[in-house]
Amino acid sequence: MQSFYDRLAQMGIHGHAEIDLDEDGIAHLTGSLGSWQEVVDVGHMAAKLPGVRHVVCDLQSPEVKEKKKEDISPYRALGEVDRADVVIIGGGVTGCGIARQLSRYQLDILLIEAKKDIACGTTKANNGMIHSGYDSKPDTLKAKLNVRGNALYSDWARDLGFQFNRTGSFVCGFDEEDRKVIEAYYENGKKNGVPGIEIISGERAREIEPALSSAITCALWTPSAGYVEPYEVALALAENAVDNGVRFRLSCRAVDMEIDNGRISGVLTNQGLIKCDFVINAAGLYADEIAEMAGDRFYSIHPRRGDLLFSTKNTKENFLPLLDWLRATIPKAEVL
Ligand SMILES: Cc1cc2nc3c(=O)[nH]c(=O)nc-3n(C[C@H](O)[C@H](O)[C@H](O)COP(=O)(O)OP(=O)(O)OC[C@H]3O[C@@H](n4cnc5c(N)ncnc54)[C@H](O)[C@@H]3O)c2cc1C
Repeated sequence: MQSFYDRLAQMGIHGHAEIDLDEDGIAHLTGSLGSWQEVVDVGHMAAKLPGVRHVVCDLQSPEVKEKKKEDISPYRALGEVDRADVVIIGGGVTGCGIARQLSRYQLDILLIEAKKDIACGTTKANNGMIHSGYDSKPDTLKAKLNVRGNALYSDWARDLGFQFNRTGSFVCGFDEEDRKVIEAYYENGKKNGVPGIEIISGERAREIEPALSSAITCALWTPSAGYVEPYEVALALAENAVDNGVRFRLSCRAVDMEIDNGRISGVLTNQGLIKCDFVINAAGLYADEIAEMAGDRFYSIHPRRGDLLFSTKNTKENFLPLLDWLRATIPKAEVL
């Protein structure tokens, strides 16, 4: 992987890093770098190298705290406490959606969630936007599912009774440079089959949304985009799944897997062992740990916590001093 070491040298990284690429295109990174940001940058760089499908990043830096290994023997001592045909790990919108969908079949399904309630992970703290699909890379599964999933939201909202506003969305442009970006999104969206996608003038955009700035000269308009309350969706999915016989165990955290002859036969949790035939990994930002428990470590997730700031009118005047203050106060803050 000479290209990795060439790029590393160009990046002026502090410390050392090594790459090991296996025949499945999994790049394993090891070594020790000067900062967390360098770990992230090197991880991203490796992911873009030709032949790399996934990255397992074990790079260290003084800012990365080493995880303490948990003693799981007390959980093993609890013995077998349950069994199911399918165990779904994670009660976010993904796990609850899968639970509801699978409840159409004659299966004993158990969803386990580490937190005290469902939708307490990323599902509780996002923008709730049902994206139209203009920016997903064409011909990928994500692009296909984005457009299809968006269309299905009308049925979900009707069947499950949650609020869904198909407002449409804009990407607004202020000058010729922005127009080029918008044109690229438009081409992408067309390839992905986003319904009704068009580039409209600033005037037309303000007809649709009068609160838009008068400085906007063009906009990408995707009428299929909409908004939901994400926890309302997860709750509606979970309730419907329960009505259809799915069982939920809350405060139940998967800590290990039982493997027999190369197949998962049980999930060890902090509540004891749950025997099962199938496991569905819907653990969000911890999905890599679940995969590793099953001996399938082919990617790693390095999540970051952040804050979103919202403002209404006169954004620029109100926001610029705040952004300057953020940059000065939190040197590592990524202010976009
Ligand atoms: C700031 C922000 C804005 C976003 N905006 C949007 C948006 O507008 N539109 C959009 O579509 N997406 C958006 N997203 C992405 C979206 O929030 C996520 O894709 C989605 O919530 C993921 O849901 P999930 O069910 O996969 O994961 P989660 O909601 O994280 O659920 C995973 C669950 O697994 C549980 N779990 C983890 N480990 C274990 C374990 N060992 N045992 C048992 N349970 C476990 C967790 O407690 C958690 O409840 C945004 C994300 C962020 C951070």
